Amino acid sequence: MPTASLQGPHSGALVHGVTGKARLTVLSGPSGVGKSTVIAGLRQACPRIWLSISVTTRQPRPGEVNGREYHFVSEQEFDRMIEQGDLLEWAVFAGSRYGTPRAAVTERLASGVPVLLEIDITGARQVRRAMPGALLVFLEPPSWDELVRRLTRRGTEAPEVIERRLATARSEIEAGAEFDITLVNSSVDEVRRQLVTLVTA
Ligand code: 5GP
Repeated sequence: MPTASLQGPHSGALVHGVTGKARLTVLSGPSGVGKSTVIAGLRQACPRIWLSISVTTRQPRPGEVNGREYHFVSEQEFDRMIEQGDLLEWAVFAGSRYGTPRAAVTERLASGVPVLLEIDITGARQVRRAMPGALLVFLEPPSWDELVRRLTRRGTEAPEVIERRLATARSEIEAGAEFDITLVNSSVDEVRRQLVTLVTA
């Protein structure tokens, strides 16, 4: 059985994903696919990769710390950031807004630090337009049933929130075809290894 696989129309042309002095990589995939687990491993395995910390209007989950997982901001603060052009991209996801602070990303790239964004698909599309050299990586679940299991098992969301996330996940999986590369999350270790290679290339 395959563990993780590389697929995609541009997988042979990774050199074009380089932005400025270092590569900007975007990781997207349906809610519950395991992005956070992969990223936690990546953080340990390769501390020189900088993970952007998004701003969001959603409430912190138990255990989340302001400034670590997200900068948790009010609706007014988010509006202000949009108006001032502080966000590289932003999107509404399951009723809350999420965005990438622009300055931190561009500063790191300019000084040669590889940057990884973990954002939703509409955000990934905006990054592609704003920074055409970015590499877009899609993380896919091994199967639909596995995704439902993972989302339900997390136990942190109300049933209606899970329903909403599953509905979004269906269209997100279809959008995977737009990405440069697809990694199938059958093995967290294997995906992490592949991601380190891509981000630091
Ligand atoms: P969660 O609430 O589970 O942390 O994240 C929900 C979704 O928002 C995930 O798909 C995550 O990738 C996405 N997300 C997190 N930060 C950002 C961001 O800065 N911009 C966009 N467009 N999506 C984000």
